[in-house]
Amino acid sequence: MSIAKRIFELQQIEVAIQTAHEQLERIRKDIEYNDALEQARRSFDNARLMLSELEKQYRDLDAEAEELRKNIKGIEDKLYGGKVKNPKELIGYEQEERVLKTKLDKMDDTLIDLMERIEAGKTDTTKLKKVFEDVQRAWEGEKVVLKQKTREVEEGLTLLEAKREGVLSEIDEGSLSLYKEIKRRGGQAVVKVEQGRCMGCHCFLSVSELQRVRGNTVVQCSNCGRILYLS
Ligand SMILES: [Zn+2]
Repeated sequence: MSIAKRIFELQQIEVAIQTAHEQLERIRKDIEYNDALEQARRSFDNARLMLSELEKQYRDLDAEAEELRKNIKGIEDKLYGGKVKNPKELIGYEQEERVLKTKLDKMDDTLIDLMERIEAGKTDTTKLKKVFEDVQRAWEGEKVVLKQKTREVEEGLTLLEAKREGVLSEIDEGSLSLYKEIKRRGGQAVVKVEQGRCMGCHCFLSVSELQRVRGNTVVQCSNCGRILYLS
């Protein structure tokens, strides 16, 4: 087998190794971060937070209303208890009672409104919790698949590395360093010759170049410098 063929093989193996590494990197990122799961988690967290805010508002206002009810009760005791006899004082208490009752009515309306919002919030939270749990469950399944895929790619990579070592041992130092040097410039270092053309730059080779390519020496394209390989 010609050296050029060996180098061509080496190039193919190295491309496959590179692809495998990129694949592993992609899988690693996929395992680390799942956008759908994060979105579901955020929505659920927001709904929970909003609900607890509403519940706190309700508790605070309810306590305030309770306090107010006690105050009203105190005033009513005075008004109807018979102990206060002074008419002026009684009128004063009546006015105060009216003001406080109006305030309490408003509070009660707000409490009802809050209660409705809390109920809606509970429904939302339950729904979003279920969505989150469903996405999470699906994601656990996906992760199993991704981990299995990782193992497969890693196994393939081990085989490729071994294959690379094997091919490397059959290429002489000089050819190898030439290959590495051309590879550093980017793109393919070894290209096929098809119908008398270098498939790297698509230039026709001269007759003498073609003859040399058919031999067992490493020949570079006189135009682009790539190593030529005739299959
Ligand atoms: Zn060329």
